[in-house]
Amino acid sequence: MSRAVPALTIERLSVWLVESPIAMTRLQGVGHVKDTVKRVLVRLDAGGLTGWGEAAPWEVFTGTAEAAFAALDRYLRPAVIGQPANHVRALLRRLDKVMVGHAEAKFAIETACLDLLGQASGLSIAELLGGRVRDEIPLSFSIADPDFAADLERMHAMVPAGNRLFKVKTGVLGHVEDLRRLGAIRAAFGDTVDLRIDYNQALTPFEAMRILRDVDAFRPTFIEQPVPRPHLDTMAALAAAFDTPLLADESCFDATDLMRVVAMRAADAISVKLMKCGGMLAGQALMGIADTAGLAGYAGTLYEGGIALAAGTQFVAAMPGISLGCEFYMPHHVLLEDVLEARIPHRAGMVVVPQTPGLGIRVSDASVRNNTRVLAEAAG
Ligand SMILES: [Mg+2]
Repeated sequence: MSRAVPALTIERLSVWLVESPIAMTRLQGVGHVKDTVKRVLVRLDAGGLTGWGEAAPWEVFTGTAEAAFAALDRYLRPAVIGQPANHVRALLRRLDKVMVGHAEAKFAIETACLDLLGQASGLSIAELLGGRVRDEIPLSFSIADPDFAADLERMHAMVPAGNRLFKVKTGVLGHVEDLRRLGAIRAAFGDTVDLRIDYNQALTPFEAMRILRDVDAFRPTFIEQPVPRPHLDTMAALAAAFDTPLLADESCFDATDLMRVVAMRAADAISVKLMKCGGMLAGQALMGIADTAGLAGYAGTLYEGGIALAAGTQFVAAMPGISLGCEFYMPHHVLLEDVLEARIPHRAGMVVVPQTPGLGIRVSDASVRNNTRVLAEAAG
């Protein structure tokens, strides 16, 4: 006997602009983060169920949280209310027609719809995307604290706990300091750690080749985005010159960017961020191209909280080509507060993929209100 999924007409959209304190300053080539981070939470009500989503733009990278709030509250709301949440692709096409860009806001709506559909069908989002290919995802932690001694101390606690992947943010404090930090990490941990290097666009094409020769001596697993986003020709020259894989992050937002990266052989791997490409279905299309071209995937993030990372976790669980791990550490190591009733567990350096329906997390209006500073909210 077949069981129909109940009608999932979206009756109500609630949106919150929230701000959370962070545990430490983060220095990154593209911009610094200090004291607090802002993000936008979305709740869709349909058929007696509630689905959650999150938009976490970063102003130096993709846009502002305030713009995402306005996009959801003013522009996307009328296109969403009354629509069936289970027609996710049709709804996304509709959103693209009413508003250009705003990938993060559209991703938040997509997440909430897939959460609803998962709950209605009894399936996790990973199952809706084709099923899990992994139950755990290797976790990478970024070394980006201006207080490097504090980061080394963190590593001394994290490595014995099973963490092996560390990404050093370089290009901010100068080349000599970068070499000192990389040397100190290799001296303390040898080859027990899998070291990655991320410049966040900090180098100029003029200097990049010589600087990367020096850092390459520390045997990184990959070097991420050494030069600014438009310099694909320099990325291609670097990718050709080094055996160490080159990873495109800022140079690869979406499938259109990736087509260009592939055509120019401008990278060996890509950082997939659902905030950049605009959702899990768009991310699936991106990985289709990457898989076909033989590029490896890494699951990057912006300053995302537990809801967005739950979506990322479900997505990566279903994407075989994302073989380089994820950086879904924010709620465990950086955010002092988050909105989930319980965080997604980390075990021995791995993110454990929830297997319950939808996003596999529990959120409530109370857990939002009690765990963040609400700057603005709207519902209707
Ligand atoms: Mg990056």
